[in-house]
Amino acid sequence: MRTLITGGGGFIGSHLTERFLSAGHEVIAVDNFITGSLANLDPFRSNPKFTFIGHDISYPLKIKGPIDNVLHFASPASPVDYLMYPIQTLKVGSLGTHNTLGLAKEKKARYLMASTSEVYGDPLEHPQREEYWGNVNPIGIRGVYDEAKRFSEAMVMAYHRTHGVNTHIIRIFNTYGERMRLDDGRVLPNFMGQALRSEPLTVYGDGSQTRSFCYVSDLVEGIYRLLFADYHEPVNLGNPSEVTILEFAEEILKLSKSKSKIEFRPLPQDDPKVRKPDITRARTILGWEPKIDRHEGLNRTLRYFQKQLGE
Ligand code: UDP
Repeated sequence: MRTLITGGGGFIGSHLTERFLSAGHEVIAVDNFITGSLANLDPFRSNPKFTFIGHDISYPLKIKGPIDNVLHFASPASPVDYLMYPIQTLKVGSLGTHNTLGLAKEKKARYLMASTSEVYGDPLEHPQREEYWGNVNPIGIRGVYDEAKRFSEAMVMAYHRTHGVNTHIIRIFNTYGERMRLDDGRVLPNFMGQALRSEPLTVYGDGSQTRSFCYVSDLVEGIYRLLFADYHEPVNLGNPSEVTILEFAEEILKLSKSKSKIEFRPLPQDDPKVRKPDITRARTILGWEPKIDRHEGLNRTLRYFQKQLGE
């Protein structure tokens, strides 16, 4: 099988590259590296089944020969990144989705699009089920990501209904693990970097907002299963174990044995107050659920960041 992954140089894209290569696929990773990195692909570059194409998928891409699977994972994905690249985020989540769907249609390939829990916005339903339509501010600062992903979902369903493309949509909840960028601005790399450098941990707001963190290998397993499933509606993938951001800061302090203090900073605009996936659908359709608990996942990730910082 020949599998094309956009955003292959990103955090999740590089783990998918690894997973598909180890399942015997040929993998073509596509990235323009505005937020991904070539270093994430270093482990695979000597593998004869691996090819890399430097390309911005907001522009059409022609590929010679057959393609069996197209996975669209290209996008800035942390709030800090998509606020830095608002137009690119809107383009890759609209034109990029259109281009990758066109490729899947031409090649009669399976298609999977990385959507997000951000389609639920600041949710009024908790935990979030796939049937919930969300509470998104279209013109707020996060709208560039949220609305691009909502548009992507609409486009994917239109290609499925109109052209019969074998499409799949996952809604990814907060995910973490090795190959995250220490400076991507998300809460976990921020807290771990701060703890390891003995700087104060920056908790936004009063830290009572919640998130639910999924270790990357669990997410990748769910993606792999859905790609080959006969199911075309969106599926939440995430770990339902919910924690407040303040508790999360304390967990990381304890785990890293850091003496850092906690400092409170203003809460960013439109920051969701709660987030937790209802994973009944993934359990039922894919027989999937997360296996790595937060303690184990955080330990592995902390060791990765320690190495990155040369400790
Ligand atoms: N956050 C925080 N301190 C930081 C970075 C983030 O308290 O240094 C909070 C942020 O306000 C949000 C949560 O942690 O409530 C998760 O933020 P992140 O940027 O990781 O992603 P989000 O889940 O908001 O997309």
